[in-house]
Amino acid sequence: MESVGLESQLGGVRSCFKSGKTRSLSWRKSQLKAVMKLLQEKENDIFVALKEDLGKHPAEAFRDEVGFLIKSVDYHLENLDKWVVPTKMQIPLAAFPTTAHIVQEPLGVVLIISSWNFPIALSLEPLLGAISAGNAAVIKPSELAPSSSAFLATNIPIFLDKEAIKVIQGGPNIGEQLLERRWDKIFFTGSTRVGRMVMTAAAKHLTPVCLELGGKSPAIVDSLSGSRDRKVTAERIVGGKWGAANGQACVGIDYLLVEEKFAPILVELLKATIKKFYPNPEFVSKIINKNHFQRLNNYMSDPSVASSIVHGGCTDYENMVIQPTILVDPPLDAEIMTEEIFGPLLPIITLKKIEDSIGFIRARPKPLVIYAFTNNESLKKRLVEETSSGALTFNDALIQYICDTVPFGGVGPSGFGKYHGKFSFDAFSHGKPVMRRSFLTEFSFRYPPWNQDKLQL
Ligand code: NAD
Repeated sequence: MESVGLESQLGGVRSCFKSGKTRSLSWRKSQLKAVMKLLQEKENDIFVALKEDLGKHPAEAFRDEVGFLIKSVDYHLENLDKWVVPTKMQIPLAAFPTTAHIVQEPLGVVLIISSWNFPIALSLEPLLGAISAGNAAVIKPSELAPSSSAFLATNIPIFLDKEAIKVIQGGPNIGEQLLERRWDKIFFTGSTRVGRMVMTAAAKHLTPVCLELGGKSPAIVDSLSGSRDRKVTAERIVGGKWGAANGQACVGIDYLLVEEKFAPILVELLKATIKKFYPNPEFVSKIINKNHFQRLNNYMSDPSVASSIVHGGCTDYENMVIQPTILVDPPLDAEIMTEEIFGPLLPIITLKKIEDSIGFIRARPKPLVIYAFTNNESLKKRLVEETSSGALTFNDALIQYICDTVPFGGVGPSGFGKYHGKFSFDAFSHGKPVMRRSFLTEFSFRYPPWNQDKLQL
């Protein structure tokens, strides 16, 4: 696409913001309601697009995209009146008499670049924050989920204010052209590699960025004793690994850390749970494209890795499906253990003692999330104090992602900047201190000429 084409597609978005239209509370609420209407009226079209792009089952598509977003819109509509109220601040005696408030102002025109694995949710969830905070926005969905991208490009101009909210479709080339322009914030969801490029481009205009990136998120699984705890753990691991886009999820479990003696028991529990959850191959999402299919296949076909497969390993190139696969102790220097897997392969790394998991995690880049299934309070305390990750969740997987009151985001190479709920509003706002004074009182000690008396004060 020529940049002239891009220019005309973006035409007017900045002047629309400058007109002040997006600042009014009524505009913000009308746009949030328009997103709700779009989700409700076009639910079926979203299911079709997600089926075409990812083979997502409508129930999974509702849970992770439509339903997830409906919940978020409700939360924004319920709370926006409170979020926009200026916050009164305490002031020191030296500034008396003064009042100070933090007033939230919109940043301007923001760019949202999203990835393909939750192509609707990862485009619209940040948009809710941009709208609530009173910004104009441009969304560039991923070209690897073309049906979802086309759905957004067709429907957003119909349901939302098309002068203020635009969708630009395209791949890296369009992404690069967009990054050359000046934005008031760039909100990026994707790989660490492209995240670096986003930050470099943003530096030219001193544009603030929020980078929602990935990495290898481990789950520590302690040798739980009760059969109920073990069963629930197996279900949550299977749900957390294969239940969301068949492992193609940033918050999905990348690998497990387990004591040697517990590993065979856990493998059997996982195998039984996989059989129960996926009696039909239709229930797992497909791999997004041939490149990713090949990448995952290459991880598995490394001979030293292939010999560690204890379950699954079946691939169906024609339908782009890789069945849930479990590996025990693949070499730590194999790509499956050095790169983010982002697919349905689950390595289990065995340890002598579960406490060794702390050193294992600390020796690697800070992950987006650490999961730990344990009833051991001293292990929990050590994990809180001795590890660093975007989030830390005990005894479940993915749950932190759906809580509007909990900030979502990474740390270090898994990204920075937080969103969801009020954190999304904050991500797209500038909290401006507004100080108000009268002319009534004045103290000469503030001003020269300086003398010893003024020093005593
Ligand atoms: P990606 O980085 O390849 O692409 C993300 C977006 O960037 C797409 O819209 C793509 O078109 C665009 N893009 C690609 N090259 C570009 C360039 N040179 N200039 C500008 N834009 C460019 O990532 P992906 O394959 O879509 O997603 C997978 C990655 O995203 C994984 O690492 C995963 O962990 C991460 N992810 C993170 C989160 C999160 O919330 N933290 C959520 C989903 C995915």
